[in-house]
Amino acid sequence: MDNAATTCVSDEAAQKSLRYMTETFGNPESRHGFGIAAHSAVEESRKILARAMGIEPDELFFAPSATVANNTAIRGAVASKRKGRIISTAFEHPAVEEVLKDLEKTFEVVRLVPVGGKITADAFRQALTPDTILVTCMQVNNETGAVTPLKEMVTVLKRSGVDAPFHSDAVQGFLKEDFRYSMLDMATFSGHKMHAPKGVGALYVKKGLRVKPVLWGGGQEKNLFSGTHNVPAIVGWGAACESLKEDKEERRRTVEKVNEILRTGIVDLGGEINSPQDASPYILNAAFPGYLGENILNYLSERGICISTGSACSAKKQSRVLSAIGKGDLSRFSLRFSFCADNTEEEARLVLYALKDALKDISTVR
Ligand code: PLP
Repeated sequence: MDNAATTCVSDEAAQKSLRYMTETFGNPESRHGFGIAAHSAVEESRKILARAMGIEPDELFFAPSATVANNTAIRGAVASKRKGRIISTAFEHPAVEEVLKDLEKTFEVVRLVPVGGKITADAFRQALTPDTILVTCMQVNNETGAVTPLKEMVTVLKRSGVDAPFHSDAVQGFLKEDFRYSMLDMATFSGHKMHAPKGVGALYVKKGLRVKPVLWGGGQEKNLFSGTHNVPAIVGWGAACESLKEDKEERRRTVEKVNEILRTGIVDLGGEINSPQDASPYILNAAFPGYLGENILNYLSERGICISTGSACSAKKQSRVLSAIGKGDLSRFSLRFSFCADNTEEEARLVLYALKDALKDISTVR
């Protein structure tokens, strides 16, 4: 139950990847038959993914990870600017937040503060100024599952007449939330969060938008992401996407049920839910005040249950995400459960039994 960290590679993806590692292992840049076959497979994956995203294939660029894609989107979009405002949120993933911290030396960065755990279009309206040069707000928060109202925010931006590209880190939202990414100017995706192998991400860039590369080399992906394509991961991602798309609604219903069982059970055990009520069903953040998250994590791990403490916080440091939603004091006690459709209701019940035992066996702290 740590699927927000990474997921199991699906059978379809693994088989496809294996074929492109051991049989059709050409470099897509090579001009011989092996290279051409690898190139075609990469282009086929691009089409599958773009269709699922609601964008054109030539607007999708493969990157080595979502981290690289986020860095490129943000740095590349403001590369030609000398000043201006960047609007983001107070609870972005480090792959965005750390870039913003660095850019703060040159630009003004405004981080929207969540209200009731969520970003509001109203807060965005208030932060938007004529000198805004970029908006970068994540689609689904990776620690709490809070969903950002991107559609409303895009409407606010369009109506304002401010000419700033809108980027979203959509790593935890793609194929989980109903959304056409063509509404945005840029969006970031990651393969390994959706049953593809690790080591592939992608950036959607709307046709006509100029994004300067952050690294230079062989000129792959129209110069935006130089470096040899990770063909096995890219073709595996296409295969994973096809099967996820097929039964998207059914998968969501399974996950909703697992989430509901845990949510109710945790409250019955005296826990506190940190995720908003209408959060993505794929992520559930909760705390048992007095019980260190780290201790519960270790206890469950010994029983073969994998969860996360929801933040890279040490016992002393508060989670940036939980602090942003006004629950910083609960950081030490927080746990993140994150699901995929392979999780079962039976597993959810087993986790609750294990949590009940953990609360008996683990000593509390103040
Ligand atoms: N953005 C979000 C919201 C994430 O959850 C993650 C992964 O934890 C990333 C970006 C980074 O993705 P990658 O591992 O592909 O660099």
